[in-house]
Amino acid sequence: MREQRLLIDGEWVDASDGGMCKVHNPATGEVIAKAALATKEDIGRAIEAAGKAFPGWARLSPTERGAHLRAASEKVIARHKEIGALMTEEQGKPLLEAQGEVKKAALALRYYAEEGERVYGRIIANAERDIESRVIYQPIGPTAAITPWNYPVELLAWKICGALAAGCTMVAKPPSLTPLSPFAFMECMIDAGLPPGVLNAVNGPGSMVGRQLIENPIIKKVAFTGSTEVGRSIAIDCAPHLKKFSLELGGHCPMIVSRNCDIEAAVKGATRRSFRNMGQICIAINRLYVAREIHDTFLEKLVAETQKLKIGNGLISVPCDLGCMASEEGLAKAKEHIADALSKGATLTCGGKKPEGDEFEKGYFFEPTILTGVNHKMKVMTEETFGPVVGVMPFDDLDEAIALANDTPYGLAAYGFTDNLDEADKLMREIIAGNVAINNVDAGVMNAPYGGWKESGQGHEHGPEGLFEYLQTKHLRVRYLHSDR
Ligand code: NAD
Repeated sequence: MREQRLLIDGEWVDASDGGMCKVHNPATGEVIAKAALATKEDIGRAIEAAGKAFPGWARLSPTERGAHLRAASEKVIARHKEIGALMTEEQGKPLLEAQGEVKKAALALRYYAEEGERVYGRIIANAERDIESRVIYQPIGPTAAITPWNYPVELLAWKICGALAAGCTMVAKPPSLTPLSPFAFMECMIDAGLPPGVLNAVNGPGSMVGRQLIENPIIKKVAFTGSTEVGRSIAIDCAPHLKKFSLELGGHCPMIVSRNCDIEAAVKGATRRSFRNMGQICIAINRLYVAREIHDTFLEKLVAETQKLKIGNGLISVPCDLGCMASEEGLAKAKEHIADALSKGATLTCGGKKPEGDEFEKGYFFEPTILTGVNHKMKVMTEETFGPVVGVMPFDDLDEAIALANDTPYGLAAYGFTDNLDEADKLMREIIAGNVAINNVDAGVMNAPYGGWKESGQGHEHGPEGLFEYLQTKHLRVRYLHSDR
């Protein structure tokens, strides 16, 4: 059986006490691997290795660091099929989607190799002619990354790429539910010649490993993606040390469908973004607000499109649209949200049960589910389900729809479909979220900033903003003693 080791100071090692956890295939329930569980001593060694490697890595030129990232990108591309298969086996998503995710992580390595070369300083004139101010940006120091299981490679890659390109070293804590694919991604980086200690990785429960990473004074910044609840506890744990953090947290994302829109495109977008990865995406559509004039037509088409989605064991049914959910807890939460809505008067319009057939018997499979007759007293319309469930609600005018969309503590992503320029402009300005997509449902691209507002986070990933999270600003004031300026 496959055994995953820890990565400490360039070496692949067992846990110091030999401890391991099991990794399951959520589509079959089978144990597919064991992964070393880091002890306090292992975590301490990983942090020290990141601390020791920092000065040398920070001293390299951005071009030299970029060469390491480019070489790693090639290794990842060469292994993307195999790493994608590992991801499907441990997470449950369709194979082609998993392989696509690994390719996107390779793209992030290339992008940040280049973005690292575009960190420019400034020269600022002073009142005195012989003095000038310079502004430079320097890496913040050794960092920690804590990431979730829904996009196990990509979410980790964004952090590694930003940090390493900026000149920081890192200790990563991938999720213990899905450690295999992120560790395989990091193996590519080591095999591409990354110096020892620049990237270290430890596996284990967040409450233990995460905490130790946050509390150690060598670590100067914590980059986290996960739930709002844990993000809040990380902010609290960072506070006594005044440690810098960036948080990509939960969402509860609305989509507004105007009567002036391409209904077919809106239906396709809603189907994709509500159910892709079984709704286990922070930017998944949870709430659909549809103009009353087109509500029934839209709903009919949405149900038809949803029922066309092919569900399967991601490794065997290639291609398929949906795999299974990643864990029993996730499935239980989705069912609980559906039961809560139904008990408060909602109607189950489609889905709401396990698909029929032997292949679905043992795994966490569930049909994509549409609820109507919903309101904001129901969990499905207010709390993050993180499952394949969407509520559909009619509206009469755009102001009402925007007020409903903004009626949430979250502010991650929102979507609008309209052919009317004024409506589009109003949606883009008035929806309170860090990412608003109009007439498309892909709210993030690698070279533009991605981050949450309100309780969906702090800071950014992607784009130059994602690099500057790992840099600190230094003001240099220089008097020229012998110049005739
Ligand atoms: P989670 O918050 O339970 O765990 C995320 C990571 O934090 C895991 O590695 C976990 O081990 C670790 N952790 C748990 N407790 C910790 C603690 N006390 N201190 C330090 N680390 C700790 O989230 P999850 O269930 O793995 O992922 C789903 C959540 O992630 C959803 O809420 C989703 O919206 C969010 N998410 C957000 C984004 C984004 O970009 N905003 C992207 C993907 C997922």
